[in-house]
Amino acid sequence: MARIGLFGGTFNPVHTGHIALAERVLTEFGLERIVFLPTGNPPHKKNADITDKMHRFRMVQIACGSNPQFLVSDYEIKKETPNYSYQTVEDFRKIYPEDELYFIVGGDSFRDFPKWMEYEKLMAMCSFIVVSRPGIPPEGYFEKFRGDEKPPRVFFLNDATYDVSSTEIRELLYKENIPEELLPPGVAAYIREHQLYQS
Ligand code: ATP
Repeated sequence: MARIGLFGGTFNPVHTGHIALAERVLTEFGLERIVFLPTGNPPHKKNADITDKMHRFRMVQIACGSNPQFLVSDYEIKKETPNYSYQTVEDFRKIYPEDELYFIVGGDSFRDFPKWMEYEKLMAMCSFIVVSRPGIPPEGYFEKFRGDEKPPRVFFLNDATYDVSSTEIRELLYKENIPEELLPPGVAAYIREHQLYQS
């Protein structure tokens, strides 16, 4: 039985924080692999500001290229309907029936967790690894589950904070400033080549 991480995100674009946290989670929790799942039609994000899913997918592939324990799945980008995490985990349960699934999220996403579609179903199917995020204090994450009969299985990675977001990167890119140091190797070149994030 292996431990498999599922790491969903818009990755618009993928940044060094995504890769650094995934590397840290891999070793800290002894995962065999992490499956990155770039989303196609995120139900919770404003679609206007979202770069074409094939570009986001390619950038994640480039960013993950040097780590054989990272896989990039086109599962969500191939879906025509909005993606909900509980459906993704349900389907990955079938792919990895014998393994333990860990859903990896940042503190900001986990804070909104009870608003996710069918979150109770999701909770029952996998464990969570929550990575702290600057400005989002981890205390209180659990308040909402107090008194629940079956609280989620959650592991925290609190001592690592990666102070970078895709929003910040997009803002810089729109000002024609490419923040190479916040982008995994090869991603800046891809953005340039395809003239992405131009205002
Ligand atoms: P945006 O700024 O566009 O909202 P983002 O930087 O949060 O994007 P996403 O692709 O939405 O990136 O993130 C995918 C997952 O990774 C989410 O669960 C998010 O919380 C988590 N994540 C992203 N950046 C960080 C970070 N710096 N520290 C911890 N978690 C992060």
